[in-house]
Amino acid sequence: MKNLRYIFLTALLFAMSPCIKAQDVLAEPVAMQTSIESVDTVAMRTMLLNEAHIIPMSDMYPHWINSGVHYTATLPDSFKIDLRGYTMPTPSTRITDIFGYRPRRRRVHQGLDIKVQTGDTIYAAFDGKVRISSYERRGYGNFVVIRHNNGIETLYGHLSKKFVVANQNVKSGDPIGLGGNTGRSFGSHLHFETILMGKAINPAFLFDFKNQTVTGDSYLYRKPGSKYVENGKVKTAGPEPKYHKVRKGDTVSKIALKHGVSQKTIYKLNGINAKTVLRLGMTLRYQ
Ligand SMILES: [Zn+2]
Repeated sequence: MKNLRYIFLTALLFAMSPCIKAQDVLAEPVAMQTSIESVDTVAMRTMLLNEAHIIPMSDMYPHWINSGVHYTATLPDSFKIDLRGYTMPTPSTRITDIFGYRPRRRRVHQGLDIKVQTGDTIYAAFDGKVRISSYERRGYGNFVVIRHNNGIETLYGHLSKKFVVANQNVKSGDPIGLGGNTGRSFGSHLHFETILMGKAINPAFLFDFKNQTVTGDSYLYRKPGSKYVENGKVKTAGPEPKYHKVRKGDTVSKIALKHGVSQKTIYKLNGINAKTVLRLGMTLRYQ
């Protein structure tokens, strides 16, 4: 019912103001033209704008449900993620596992692991609204998913305590829980994910935990294979970068073989050469 009501209100909002998109509304709610409209229309529109605030980025996310972390949706060819107004989820700078494929477990690690102690405060990365606050015994343990006004969702896993409940509005920097070791976790850490329309993207594209900052004012996501124009030329977005964490016994040739790429590709992507000595724990891009 809520969805239906919402869809109706959204439709009405868009019908009334075809030039206003939700992004504009969020950024500049005062930019409405009021002079030529009746008071009733203004009051109605204000009400609708408030409705629009209730579900962040609801023009790109048709559903608001309190379950389901990842799902398949049609991503736009490109999407600019506004990173201003961020808060680092933890002051910890120690990454203990990177995003990507884990050969040993034969599954994709959908986030970054950051070392935190049980009881360390974890903060909301941006303004938004809690979509999921739940517990998974074999998975994330106590975890929270927030949908943000900038269009992404963030997930915080293995928490020892949650401070927020589903459908609660949060501000960037609000404490949302405490670090812990719940669920499938071996040693206390924060499992942190950044998710765009159901798809986990590498948090390292957005957040630089080592330097406790973001990678820029914004991050432009491009769907692999999508076309775009740059300097008057049509280009095709390449595959998403993928990384390998160097373990004991790894060589560039072994890493290349494992991921089905050439050694040359690895050299080129990382600005290294055959003489470079690999260090344990360093991350090498292979795609
Ligand atoms: Zn993890």
